[in-house]
Amino acid sequence: MIGLLEDKDRIFTNLYGLHDWGLEGAKARGCWNATPDMLAMGRDWLITNVKNSGLRGRGGAGFSTGLKWSFMPKEVKDRPHYLVVNADESEPGTCKDREIMRHDPHLLIEGCLIASFAMQAHACYIYLRGEYVLERERMEAAVKQAYEAGLIGKNNVHGWDFDVYIHHGAGAYICGEETALLESLEGKKGQPRLKPPFPAGAGLYGCPTTVNNVESIAVVGTILRRGADWFAGFGRPNNTGTKLMSISGHVNRPCNVEESMSIPMRQLLEEHCGGVRGGWGNLKAVIPGGVSVPLITRDMAETALMDFDSLREMRSGLGTAAVIVMDESTDLVKAIARISYFYKHESCGQCTPCREGTGWMWRVLERMAVGEADPSEIDLLLEVAGQVEGHTICALGDAAAWPVQGLIRHFRHEIEDRISSYRSRRANFAGHAIAAE
Ligand code: NAD
Ligand code: SF4
Repeated sequence: MIGLLEDKDRIFTNLYGLHDWGLEGAKARGCWNATPDMLAMGRDWLITNVKNSGLRGRGGAGFSTGLKWSFMPKEVKDRPHYLVVNADESEPGTCKDREIMRHDPHLLIEGCLIASFAMQAHACYIYLRGEYVLERERMEAAVKQAYEAGLIGKNNVHGWDFDVYIHHGAGAYICGEETALLESLEGKKGQPRLKPPFPAGAGLYGCPTTVNNVESIAVVGTILRRGADWFAGFGRPNNTGTKLMSISGHVNRPCNVEESMSIPMRQLLEEHCGGVRGGWGNLKAVIPGGVSVPLITRDMAETALMDFDSLREMRSGLGTAAVIVMDESTDLVKAIARISYFYKHESCGQCTPCREGTGWMWRVLERMAVGEADPSEIDLLLEVAGQVEGHTICALGDAAAWPVQGLIRHFRHEIEDRISSYRSRRANFAGHAIAAE
């Protein structure tokens, strides 16, 4: 199914916090219902069904969740297994996991239990971004309720000893990269590790570990209750399910909404956000999935579907489905310069192309934003972005390069115009100065 989701098909029925977030409210919405029956079906059944649902990681990369679970060793040998939930939601524009933790924390805890059972982990760490103070307090309160109700902990009603630990980060974007997150959890400086090995082989404390995003885990209970086919029935092949989308910027009503995967972008903006400020014709560009993905133009947004494949074909990406809408009043060169500054600031500095390249791109873009550049520098900027892309330890380097490449690909003329108008102003000024002498 592609199109608007009906209320009965929403997983996050308390997304806006209108109801009780606590255990009683969660149970009334169906959470913790039939969990023992699911576990009784066994590990292979759980993993196969998550695979069959088509669920792809909701943190941005879109890797198959069931496949990732299947990479964990089948037997627990000398090392414990761990589940780590990535709640370090820091991608600019993204604010969906925040709402799950605030308003439906039990969906996440139930998902942690199911995933941990499937991967034979007795412990799960939920790593929250430093700024999420309310969310940490809410998660701690919900975890306490689950312990007190005997849903988790030693000798719990599910017969699988299981502990949940909430870990509060210190506010570094790079700690959302899964291996930097593991380093940080271990008490070290948050710097990405080289992959492979992937965490399933050597993760937390060198033990088999799976790192999953909050939304990926929070949907698992409902998928298994309602069936893999039910979830796979939304969206289109390879892009299935429902998805939380965060829409911000120049729309009439910015919002978070759960929608069917593959919903047309224009329909999403018009049905849920009251449309683009000043009408569709006033749209200039859209960043469809958090600032790590390149922007697309209005013409592209007209036909884009909110899914992995459609946006990849447009040389952009679904990312976290954080849609940032920019109307004709936007200074795109300045906006991308600001994004470049963000990456320069958040680079951990381990690899030279990222450490040096992010700052270099930012400085050139700042000059270009006022037109103080040579036209030949546009190609130079593109070349440097290409040298950063794919030449770094983690995806932050790519994320820094892509917005710059997207700007030049679609709005090169804006930079050129800026440079030529700066030059004519300079020439006029010089002319006046000579005349005055
Ligand atoms: P990735 O593609 O390297 O990996 C995705 C997941 O799949 C990881 O868990 C990885 O371990 C696993 N994986 C990939 N290949 C594997 C293999 N061959 N064997 C075993 N496991 C494998 O991407 P990433 O670096 O984890 O994430 C990048 C994405 O993160 C970006 O696309 C961006 O959209 C997103 N992002 C999100 C946020 C946020 O706040 N949610 C912040 C920054 C970036
Ligand atoms: Fe650090 Fe950047 Fe290298 Fe990632 S790409 S490891 S953030 S220097």
